[in-house]
Amino acid sequence: MSAKRGLPRWKADPLAAPLAYAIARPMKKTTGTDRSITSKWRPATQAVRGGTWRSEHGETSEALFLTSGYTYDDAQTPADRFAGEMQGMTYSRLQNPTVAMLEERIALMEGAEACRAQASGMAAMTTALLCQLSAGDHVVGARAAFGSCRWLLDHLLPRFGIETSVIDSADDDAWEAAIKPNTKAFFFETPANPTLDVVDVAHVCGVAKAHGITTVVDNAFATSALQKPMEYGADVVAYSATKLMDGQGRVLAGAVCGSQEWIDEVLLPFQRNTGPNCAPFNAWVVLKGLETLDLRARRQSENAVALGAFIEPRVPRMLHPGLASHPRHDLAMKQMVATGPIFAFDVGDRATAFAVLDALDLVDISNNIGDARSLMCHPASTTHANMGEDGRAAMGVTEGLLRINVGLEDVEDLKEDLDRALSAAGL
Ligand SMILES: *Cc1c(COP(=O)(O)O)cnc(C)c1O
Repeated sequence: MSAKRGLPRWKADPLAAPLAYAIARPMKKTTGTDRSITSKWRPATQAVRGGTWRSEHGETSEALFLTSGYTYDDAQTPADRFAGEMQGMTYSRLQNPTVAMLEERIALMEGAEACRAQASGMAAMTTALLCQLSAGDHVVGARAAFGSCRWLLDHLLPRFGIETSVIDSADDDAWEAAIKPNTKAFFFETPANPTLDVVDVAHVCGVAKAHGITTVVDNAFATSALQKPMEYGADVVAYSATKLMDGQGRVLAGAVCGSQEWIDEVLLPFQRNTGPNCAPFNAWVVLKGLETLDLRARRQSENAVALGAFIEPRVPRMLHPGLASHPRHDLAMKQMVATGPIFAFDVGDRATAFAVLDALDLVDISNNIGDARSLMCHPASTTHANMGEDGRAAMGVTEGLLRINVGLEDVEDLKEDLDRALSAAGL
């Protein structure tokens, strides 16, 4: 102790040296936190640099703050922070620097005022709905949806006295027809999982606005790289960041975007007290994923169109918004930059579908999507198994349906694999 007295702290403690150096030379360059600058950046720049906040060390890549709590120099500081009178971290259920960087980047890319990251896509969907609903409210939701999204509508919300109506989301008139005096929210995804139904976002959001209804769009299939629902009037955009945003099948994460007022007053009281938060490590992985999102989303979309066109003549039914045979191909091309990595096709029955899967050599059998690897699954026996036969029939999830996530492999290798697998199954 006495041996250290009088020495500059960095000489006594080598670990403090970089910090002392940094304090002597504060960072001057713009990072990613000043909206007056970052909101003017073009999307590709926002995806790489948006939200980046650098510590005194000037690290190039975003720092990973694995901490649950924070310390204070004096007793007044936490008092001021808890009172909301001073900016700063207090507890990682409320704020975390790594998670905050991800939230800022997603908000910028979405063109949203604010965003809050969540533990998973389903944490995001549940939070986006429950935070704004009370017993006695009514929600109109899309029939064609991810299985767990439908479970929220069919089972969870009704248990708490929230009425739900499930409609054909591609029927433009069905939305207005389903409105009741107590309708609070519309909830849909487009393109939908796994039948690739396309919703007219501008039309549905217009109907909602005219009736004072909040529209929540699950934009997991497209991401902001391919589709920006807020430009068409959506109030809230929710994500599974597990999919195309991470893009390499590593972590579960989610996000909810909205106006600053809605996030602060509606979402945050729910989130801060129930804790569906994104872990800092997962947020960091998604930050890295977003840097390449635009490139991946475009290339995977191109591969998906090429592979879909190759398969189409061989199968009885193709569900691909990027191909002219899709009933809403024109609408998809209008509201999307490209139609994304996922499509589905029907091969007739379960035995043939399993024969195709079992004959694949390169493409993996897996129910994940958004990955750089091509993955294929049989929704009726996996992602949509718990919906029951009637539920699946109403959604068009037939026994012969296969869903594919087209990755970043060379599309010629994918064509060869599908050619072999379809032939093996007699197609
Ligand atoms: C995967 C998915 C979800 C759920 O996301 P998780 O991160 O798996 O919780 C929600 N909606 C859609 C459209 C999805 O594809």
